[in-house]
Amino acid sequence: MFRSLPMPWIAPVCERTKEAISPLGGGNALHALHHIVSEKAHVILGVHEVERFNIMLVTYVDHMQFIAIFCFIISDFVIKKVAALVIHTADRANPKKNEPEGDAMKSRTKVVVIGGGIAGCSTLYHLTQEGWTDVVLVERNELTSGTTWHSAAQVTNFGMNQTMVGLKTHSINLYKELAEDPDYPINYHHGDGGIRLANTPEQMQGYRHFASMARGMDVHFEVIDAEECARRHPLISTDNLLGGLWDPLDGDIDPAQLCQALARRARKAGAEIYRNTPVTGLTQHKDDTWTVHTEHGDIDCDIVVNACGYRVNEVGAMMGVHHPVASMEHQYFLTEEIAAIRDAGHRMPLLRCPISDYYCRQEKNGLLVGFYEQDCKTWGMNGIDPNFVNALCPDDLDRVTDVLEGAFARMPALMEVGIHTVVNGPITYTIDGAPLVGPIPGKRNAFCIIGLRAGLGEGGGHGRLLAQQIVHGEACYDTWCLDPRRFTGHTNVELTALKAIEDYQNEFRFHFPHEHRPAGRPAKTTPLTPIFAAEGAEFTVVNGWERVDYIKPGSDFHPTLSFSFDETFDVVARETKNLQENVGLTEVNGFNRLEITGTDRHEFLDRMMCGAVTKRDRRVGLGYLLNHNGMIKAEATIANLPASDRGPARVWYGSAAASEYHDMDWLQAHLHDGEDVQIRSLTNDQTILVLAGPKSRDVLSACARGDWSRDAFPWLSVRECFVGIAPATVLNISFSGELAYEIHVPNASLYAAYLSLRKAGETHGMKLFGARAIESMRMEKGFLHWKADLLTEFDPFETGLDRFVKLTKGDFIGRNALQKRLESGPQKKLVSLKIDTTKAPAHGGASLMLDGVVVGTITSGDWGHRTGLNLAYGFLNPEFSEPGSRMQLDLCGELIGAEVIAPSPYDPDLSRVRS
Ligand SMILES: Cc1cc2nc3c(=O)[nH]c(=O)nc-3n(C[C@H](O)[C@H](O)[C@H](O)COP(=O)(O)OP(=O)(O)OC[C@H]3O[C@@H](n4cnc5c(N)ncnc54)[C@H](O)[C@@H]3O)c2cc1C
Repeated sequence: MFRSLPMPWIAPVCERTKEAISPLGGGNALHALHHIVSEKAHVILGVHEVERFNIMLVTYVDHMQFIAIFCFIISDFVIKKVAALVIHTADRANPKKNEPEGDAMKSRTKVVVIGGGIAGCSTLYHLTQEGWTDVVLVERNELTSGTTWHSAAQVTNFGMNQTMVGLKTHSINLYKELAEDPDYPINYHHGDGGIRLANTPEQMQGYRHFASMARGMDVHFEVIDAEECARRHPLISTDNLLGGLWDPLDGDIDPAQLCQALARRARKAGAEIYRNTPVTGLTQHKDDTWTVHTEHGDIDCDIVVNACGYRVNEVGAMMGVHHPVASMEHQYFLTEEIAAIRDAGHRMPLLRCPISDYYCRQEKNGLLVGFYEQDCKTWGMNGIDPNFVNALCPDDLDRVTDVLEGAFARMPALMEVGIHTVVNGPITYTIDGAPLVGPIPGKRNAFCIIGLRAGLGEGGGHGRLLAQQIVHGEACYDTWCLDPRRFTGHTNVELTALKAIEDYQNEFRFHFPHEHRPAGRPAKTTPLTPIFAAEGAEFTVVNGWERVDYIKPGSDFHPTLSFSFDETFDVVARETKNLQENVGLTEVNGFNRLEITGTDRHEFLDRMMCGAVTKRDRRVGLGYLLNHNGMIKAEATIANLPASDRGPARVWYGSAAASEYHDMDWLQAHLHDGEDVQIRSLTNDQTILVLAGPKSRDVLSACARGDWSRDAFPWLSVRECFVGIAPATVLNISFSGELAYEIHVPNASLYAAYLSLRKAGETHGMKLFGARAIESMRMEKGFLHWKADLLTEFDPFETGLDRFVKLTKGDFIGRNALQKRLESGPQKKLVSLKIDTTKAPAHGGASLMLDGVVVGTITSGDWGHRTGLNLAYGFLNPEFSEPGSRMQLDLCGELIGAEVIAPSPYDPDLSRVRS
């Protein structure tokens, strides 16, 4: 089989390898071998040990897609013989030609991970780390033969929230450990550092916020000026540059070695990997277990994981699911040697440029430059050639001319150097740019780790968080920002592609607070959306829903995007004032509403919720659902409706917009056999009109028959009625702190209800208001937002919800764990704070500091227009959580005074709400 080699570099490499590694042995020999071959090989596919250094197989692929398999026969640490086999990857493209390799296939296992890129390898490895070793990975071709093999493989610590920063830190720590493994070292540059450039004050302000946020995760970024950028990266010009964010641990890794190292460790722990084994079908059984059908036989398992990169929807279709993931073509090139880099005496830091949309890192003594061009291209929209394996798309540098010019201007050295390789490959995007890592909506025992656009940097962390979810039900961080259930129902192929294009075009441009980009809008609307638009509404987007944000003072009103208070400040102040003095009307669409019927509905809810569940007809209560660790899972309003001509006796379970799939999953999963409980979603059928303010009772009384007096319909009541001619269900509850009514109306009658309310409001000074006013007012009332302030990382006592817990009521989910947590005392406490500035709100994630040490983290913040206070919520170390305790907030790089205050600074005894 072994024959002479067409690649001219292979024979010398064999010789030099022989000379260099013979005296070394062990890990050093491997290290030397990597070093020598990686000078020439474009991508290293992997190292396979057979009988620990007696026979060593090393696989490499060069940029022409040739693969060389070296066979070193070693005895007493001396290479006795070297042989090599060269094949072209085209031979590997047809999986049918290949027999399954590796272990003999099991017929049953606990978990089957489908896909052997970074996502699959990391998941497999982390499952073994979490204690599950009877696990299998199935790969249709060779490991890394999807996107992973040709990745630029930059590994940054930068993330948009603390979960992302935390998971990237895990990647970095794991990769360092792998790189330093003497038995199997891999190439990882993690000390080069990297700069994210900025040319506007707003970008610099954003970087300062992200630095403040990362500090809470023990990650230390620096915000540096243009001169310092140039000092750290001698090749760049400072024209049109203000500065940047310095990430000291930025670097790059060999993607194939990384996957092989993870696979090797997983195997050592007991996992098995079947290569050249395409999955052809999936069958789910009545007991929710699965059979994975492959070209080489079936594997029964409890749980399946889709880690199929750009083929995600091929495997999704096998289980009847469409995942909102689309692929884009993405290019980088590699330059010849640049003398200034060769002679620099240090490696160049990485660059990421939101001004001209490129990234750049050192590769050998040249540069690797990648582009996010505006004239970008989706890929694989009409299906993917089954033979697209270890393959690339055709080069198309013409497409990137716009961004190339920006890169040339920033790094003039690029203009004088040749390009020796262009790589153009598919990269996956989702609806909001973040991957989908977690349970697959609507399926039991099925998970995914897909839509990774920075999978090499993030893959270590994502694999860990997914494995924790699979094994323990929950991860160490709140993973909502990655949860596949965060999109509900509107994520079709067309919308996904539009958002993927937009995201690709803005790869390095972070979202500012209140920024909602235009692609794929409007996706979800109600009959009132165009009416509000005609009234001058600006919309915010909540899980695809267009929701009124505020009413613009004029059609040319365009607030500045920044982290400071902006031009909407006075607009919101006016809306709030009118609501406080008169009455306001808005629509809260997309709010999750589940109808729970059946005679066991209250017992069921008692089991699900940690407090006393309101059971009385026509009464409303608020409650919390915990996970099995006693941490906050969900928040729900429970409204008890008696039987009527609209239906049987039932509970309306209301929870945050976007929580529909999440909450439905959790509730359905905990139904007992034989229990008389039925749950159905009304989320898309009904919309809420919120009527709030001291005159709201007058407005309601004017258009809905019945006695709406305080005695007849007090706070926390629910009643069915008609608003005008529209059937409505009215709840007397308030998120604003004013007397308020939630009026739930079927969408078909929404416009009719709106017209009646508008007419009735004419004589009471009724005006429209939006989500920004609600946000401001809820800050003044101590009301919390799910997934901003209510997180799975904290229990209800830590979150200040003691009054919603009743440990004595009998068993409920999370009770035992919560009892234990209570005994060991809180790790953190959620507090209300006032911030000593009128310039900017506190932003979620920002660090609270005392004597230079982080003592807490902001969850949300906004100006309270009725109290005149800059307010925030945050989790603090318990010893600093008493009212009066003072500290500093790192607000976009400025240390500002902050003080813990009693919750609900506006009307703390709820007199207005109960009025
Ligand atoms: C040009 C380029 C540059 C990039 N640069 C960076 C970077 O600098 N930093 C970074 O972090 N990320 C980068 N990325 C992104 C990164 O490479 C990807 O996010 C990552 O490789 C995705 O890994 P994956 O495991 O999800 O997918 P893949 O690597 O595509 O793996 C999926 C695997 O599933 C297998 N599979 C598919 N269908 C089946 C089936 N039916 N049965 C069995 N197996 C199946 C495939 O064969 C494949 O091996 C870059 C991407 C591109 C294209």
